[in-house]
Amino acid sequence: MRPELLFPLFAEVGRIKGVGPRYAKLIEKAAGPQLVDLLWHLPSGVVDRRPAPPIPEAPEGRIATLTLTVLRHQPSPNRRGPYRVVCTDGHGDIDLVYFHAKGDWLEKLLPVGERRVVSGRVERFQGRAQMAHPDHVVPEAEADQIRIVEPTYPTTEGLPVRILGKAVGGALERLPTLPEWISPSLVAQRGWPRWDEAIRRVHAPGDAADLEPSTPARARLAYDEILSNQLALALVRARMKRQKGRSIRGDGRLRDAVIAALPFALTGAQRSALAEIEGDMASESRMLRLLQGDVGSGKTLVALIAMLNAVECGAQAALMAPTEILARQHFATIEPLARKAGIRVEILTGRDKGKARAAVVGRIAEGTASIVVGTHALFQEGVEFRDLALAVIDEQHRFGVHQRMSLGGKGQAVDTLVMTATPIPRTLLMTAYGDLDVSRLTEKPPGRRPIDTRTVPLDRLGEVVDGVARKLDQGAKVYWVCPLVEESEKLDVAAAEERASTLRRRFGDRVGVVHGRMKGPEKDAVMDAFKNGSVDLLVATTVIEVGVDVPDATVMVIEHAERFGLAQLHQLRGRIGRGDKDSTCLLLYGAPLTETGRARLAVMRESEDGFRIAEEDLKLRGAGEVLGTRQSGLPTFKLADPAAHAGLFPVARDDARLLLGQDPELDGPRGQAARVLLYLFERDAAVRYLRGA
Ligand code: ADP
Ligand code: MG
Repeated sequence: MRPELLFPLFAEVGRIKGVGPRYAKLIEKAAGPQLVDLLWHLPSGVVDRRPAPPIPEAPEGRIATLTLTVLRHQPSPNRRGPYRVVCTDGHGDIDLVYFHAKGDWLEKLLPVGERRVVSGRVERFQGRAQMAHPDHVVPEAEADQIRIVEPTYPTTEGLPVRILGKAVGGALERLPTLPEWISPSLVAQRGWPRWDEAIRRVHAPGDAADLEPSTPARARLAYDEILSNQLALALVRARMKRQKGRSIRGDGRLRDAVIAALPFALTGAQRSALAEIEGDMASESRMLRLLQGDVGSGKTLVALIAMLNAVECGAQAALMAPTEILARQHFATIEPLARKAGIRVEILTGRDKGKARAAVVGRIAEGTASIVVGTHALFQEGVEFRDLALAVIDEQHRFGVHQRMSLGGKGQAVDTLVMTATPIPRTLLMTAYGDLDVSRLTEKPPGRRPIDTRTVPLDRLGEVVDGVARKLDQGAKVYWVCPLVEESEKLDVAAAEERASTLRRRFGDRVGVVHGRMKGPEKDAVMDAFKNGSVDLLVATTVIEVGVDVPDATVMVIEHAERFGLAQLHQLRGRIGRGDKDSTCLLLYGAPLTETGRARLAVMRESEDGFRIAEEDLKLRGAGEVLGTRQSGLPTFKLADPAAHAGLFPVARDDARLLLGQDPELDGPRGQAARVLLYLFERDAAVRYLRGA
């Protein structure tokens, strides 16, 4: 239950004095439905209303606060024209200009002959100074209230910033005093203000420098949010660790057989990742480890060997992939290898129905299926493992540890290995997993050749198609990736279909198309034709990113590359350069590129190191954009900026760990304060992980 002292913060914005129902709706749209959302709605700029120049010297386009005498009203001669109120400051005249204004209202606001203090943006029109819709008009006695520095807020259409600012002011009036949840030493060391003080300060910037993420007030609020994130993750993890694991320590016979049958040796990175995984599995507590490595770095093989470790102990292992295509791909990789060790691998996806499905489900329940590969269908109702010891989850580039962990609940004491091809930076990893063990495959299998990456403006499409024609003549297989259109799958598909049909006019039936809206068997048929047969040019939406392995493919064209996250581009590009032939990647961009856009594509040209690419992207664009946060499943932050506040994450992680170490149930005074923090950020679910909560 939410603590009572937070109740005022979770009142609806419509409860603020002076906010009517119409504005309440718009405020909800701009900031959120509750008072607390308004507090989190940080200013994006400042307006300095202190300048008070004589009218003739008022700089054009700048805010000024003027003390004026009203000379006369000039209603518009027609209905559409503006209403003007002519005023003077003794040095010059200025027209206050109103559109769609009621004359009687204006006569009350600005009576002829009276003095008013008026603040707004000064413009000049045909040599006359004017101010359209002044932000403030007040009697002289109230001038102090407006001749100040005022925050501006990101708003939404139809909601004047002034109203939004007032609403924030209303929310600030109800600020409770909350107990301090940050450790006193950290507060002292950083010189951070208390929570309520920090909130007040961020909404009262003195100048633009006060908007920087590094100011003590902003940093403190960011830290609050990060700490709540890390505490929540630490609680989940602590609960998971409380459930006893089991020690899995196979005799090595299956692993040895598979490794002996490989035509190559494991890389050093694979061997050390395996040593870490086997160490976790052998321990009595449950494993939660992330295996991070580029596409083609050999993760699947590592997963297989780890799974065989479980099978050697008579237990079962499962590998779950995010898509059907990928599940089949993994199956195709794993099955022949496992067979060499005499082990049967099963596959179960949403496509399996009826008797066939029942048979597989039966073998899973009996335990005759030692290794099962599948989609999330694996963990649905009705699928019971006899003795699941290891779950491998291939996340590719979607994250979200909570569902995944609950999946661990299927077995008695399931060890979990999460695989990702996204080289997300450490900081972002921490937002999704907190204190997670990580193994990285940084070394590529030997024999891979570098990819020649070039950037080409889209208006040279014709030349690109000619180049593709030459490559096709030489027997190359080519991917053509179509851009994301406003995150709408339907439009993506339309774009891909259209591109395929133009390319077909030139290349005929050698062109295939694959996208997310196709049915499974249809998709498989196209993929198969690309891999083995008649299709040489595959037009695709980003579905190919997850799970296509055609080692012969050596050319990739990516349209509107500037619209993709770098991590995504990197993953896409990883689909080529897998064999021993030279590969080319053409990044087509819509000109003109922004400066950031140019820098990002340059990173792609210069580097094939996924980790470097991800770090650069984080620096260039900030976290929200890096993976397309919405698609990535990574948590989003309201106050913290994972790029700007990167340094606070490890601090919060250690702080969370320390706090839970001393006070596992959050019962002590600081523990109680930490509970308030969790509720403040609505991590109520995490609080439930506490015993007796
Ligand atoms: P990932 O799952 O990381 O994308 P895979 O495990 O599918 O990578 O490996 C990609 C390809 O590299 C596969 O064809 C695999 O057989 C091969 N491979 C894996 N490990 C090695 C190695 N140590 N040496 C050479 N080739 C390897
Ligand atoms: Mg274990």
